[in-house]
Amino acid sequence: MGSKFEITVVANDSIKGVHYISMAVEEITRIEKLISSWDHNSETWAVNTAAGKNPVKVSKELYDLIERSLKLSRLTDGAFDISYASMDRIWKYDGSMKIMPSDKKIKASVSKVGFQNIILNEQETSVFLKLPGMKIGFGAIGKGYAADKAKSLLMQMGVSAGIVNASGDMSTWGKQPDGSDWKVALTNPMDKTKGFGLLPVVDKAVVTSGNYEKYVLFDGKRYAHIIDPRTGYPSTGILSVTVFAPKAELADALATSVFVMGKEIGLDRINQLPNVECIIIDDKGAVYKSKNIAINTLGL
Ligand code: ADP
Ligand code: MG
Repeated sequence: MGSKFEITVVANDSIKGVHYISMAVEEITRIEKLISSWDHNSETWAVNTAAGKNPVKVSKELYDLIERSLKLSRLTDGAFDISYASMDRIWKYDGSMKIMPSDKKIKASVSKVGFQNIILNEQETSVFLKLPGMKIGFGAIGKGYAADKAKSLLMQMGVSAGIVNASGDMSTWGKQPDGSDWKVALTNPMDKTKGFGLLPVVDKAVVTSGNYEKYVLFDGKRYAHIIDPRTGYPSTGILSVTVFAPKAELADALATSVFVMGKEIGLDRINQLPNVECIIIDDKGAVYKSKNIAINTLGL
């Protein structure tokens, strides 16, 4: 998935442990094949290449993921949008981008973006991207989904406790062998060599979206890899968003969304969702927390 996964399981012996881990890796690889926008054999690729032409019948699994993504778009007023992907053609974070794209180019790029133009047909389990040149991508939700699936597979196999870490999207269940809770360290985005502290994470997911990893600099201004689908411009003002939720998929998508929505609207939205909490750090280093967050030990 272009990202590193780390899997930790509690098992009686290492042979069993290695077996469990390899099953989880297999599951993650299977999901990657389904949702990759680069793999020419993926269902996602087939949907994208048929944009503006015809609907494509997909597996129930991909169909459901797209349907949940559309729900998230509605929940976030379009801040989260899997059709952001056509903007990939102008914002590149691999070092190849040397000049700021023109205003005109940026405006043109959003003309192909809009979750309203993703048409689902439930009977056919088909997906149609209405506009030619439209593209979907799961960069902001796929890792979380894969982490949830790997976790539920391991639980089904009888693994009593573990952690799936999808490049920082953490999903835990059970307890450590000594009976203590799993703990997750939060990174300080002002200084990534320093952690903020350890948080106990009990049967839930914690996901951090940060703009300290993938970004480009133009005239000293940082443009991060999370793009506002409504304007075409990378979101600014926030350094990192950490979301706690029952599922990694929801946490992953919401962390990205809060980035785009900004701290006021973002916090307001999070405060309306049951069992979802977040911590936002803005570009001045100020920390904002959602209202039910039970973390006082962070020194924040
Ligand atoms: P990370 O990859 O650092 O964990 P995120 O989970 O926040 O970060 O996902 C960022 C990725 O999501 C981007 O690299 C891009 O592929 C995709 N993306 C960017 N903007 C949006 C958006 N507004 N809605 C949905 N996906 C987005
Ligand atoms: Mg995300």
